[in-house]
Amino acid sequence: MSISGNTFIEKFESYCPQWLAEAGDPVGLHIGTLNKEIETVMVTLDVRPEVVTEAIEKKVDLIIAKHPPIFRPAKRLDIDEPQTKMYADLLKNDIAVFAAHTNLDIIENGLNDWFCELLGIHETTYLTKTHTVPYKKLAVFVPVEHAAEMRTALGQAGAGTQGDYRNTSYSMIGTGRFTPVDGANPTIGELNQEERVQEAKIEVIFPETLERQVISAMLAAHPYEEPAFDLYTIDNLKKDYGLGRVGELDSPVSLAQFVVLIKEKFSLEGLRLVADDEEKEIKRVAICGGSGEKFYKDALAKKADVYITGDVYYHTAHDMEAEGLAVIDPGHHIEELCMPELVKLFNQWKKDYNWNVTFIQSEINTNPFKFR
Ligand SMILES: [Zn+2]
Repeated sequence: MSISGNTFIEKFESYCPQWLAEAGDPVGLHIGTLNKEIETVMVTLDVRPEVVTEAIEKKVDLIIAKHPPIFRPAKRLDIDEPQTKMYADLLKNDIAVFAAHTNLDIIENGLNDWFCELLGIHETTYLTKTHTVPYKKLAVFVPVEHAAEMRTALGQAGAGTQGDYRNTSYSMIGTGRFTPVDGANPTIGELNQEERVQEAKIEVIFPETLERQVISAMLAAHPYEEPAFDLYTIDNLKKDYGLGRVGELDSPVSLAQFVVLIKEKFSLEGLRLVADDEEKEIKRVAICGGSGEKFYKDALAKKADVYITGDVYYHTAHDMEAEGLAVIDPGHHIEELCMPELVKLFNQWKKDYNWNVTFIQSEINTNPFKFR
C-alpha cells in the first residue's frame, strides 16, 4: 500500500512525539511538505550538501534527520552559500526533511537505549529528568466475545504496563443497551428495536505518551460503529522521562578495558579520555549521546563510575577531572547508530502495516573529524 508523508509521520509521532523534545529544540518538519505520496525514506544523522546530493540521486521523498538542518534560523536565502543552497536543492527536488532530535534521545527505546544495548548496560534509568507525564485510564465496552481480542490489541499498543508487569487489565461483565435509529448500520441488532448485549468493560492504564496509539488500536479492534469508551487522567501514577541513561555492566571491567570496548563497538580510531586512574573499576555507566557535558553532575549524583558523552569542552573537562569523574568522549558522531536502528524500526512498521515504502540509511560519513 502506498502511503503519504502524513501517514508515516503520524506513526512516527506516536513513537517519538515532538513534545518530548527539550524546550526550544526545533524538531518536526523543517523543509517541504508531508502532503504527498512517499516511496523512499532516507534516515541520516546530519543533513549536509553531500547527503542532499545522495538523496537526489536515490530519488528520496522524505529525509528523517537526527540533527535539525535549520538549527539556527536562516537570516537570508543566498544560495551561493553551501548551507542555503542545500535548502534550495531540497525544495527544488521536492525532498521533505523531518527532524527528531532530543525527543529521540529522551523516548524509551530511543537512541540512548540503543547505546546501552550495544554496550551491555542493563537496569537503566534516565540520567537527567526532562518530563513527567500522567497516566491515563481507558475503559472500553465491548461484546464479551470480542474481549480477548481487544485485550490483546491494547497490550500490543503498549497499554497495561505497570512496573515489571505487562498486559495488565481489569474486566467486568455487564449489559449494554442501545436502539439503532435511522442512519445506523449496527453490527448487532435491528433498526428501531432496543438491543441488549452482554459486554465486557475492559480497563487499562498507559502513560499519556501512548494515548494516540492505544486509542487507535482500540478503535481498530472494536466491532461497533460507535464504540463506547471513557478516557480519563489518573492522579496517583506518573511517568518520568529523561535524557541520557545510567545503568550497570554485567560484570566490572577496568576503565582501560572499557575504553577498548567503546572503540571497538563504535569503530573509533581514537577517543578522548578524562581520568586519573585508568585501572579504576567500572560497573556503573552513564551515557548521553551528542553533547551531554552539561549533565555531568547528574552522572556524579547517580554514582556513575564513568560518563560517556561527546563534545566535552576543555574547561569542563578540568571540572570533571577535579570532581573525580572519569569521562569518555567518543565524539558526537557515535549518534550515527540512530540510522540502522531507525531503519530496522521503520521496516518493522512496513511489515506490520503493509506499506509500500523503501527505507534506506545515508551512506555518507558526515563526521567532520579525523584522527591522524
Ligand atoms: Zn547530536
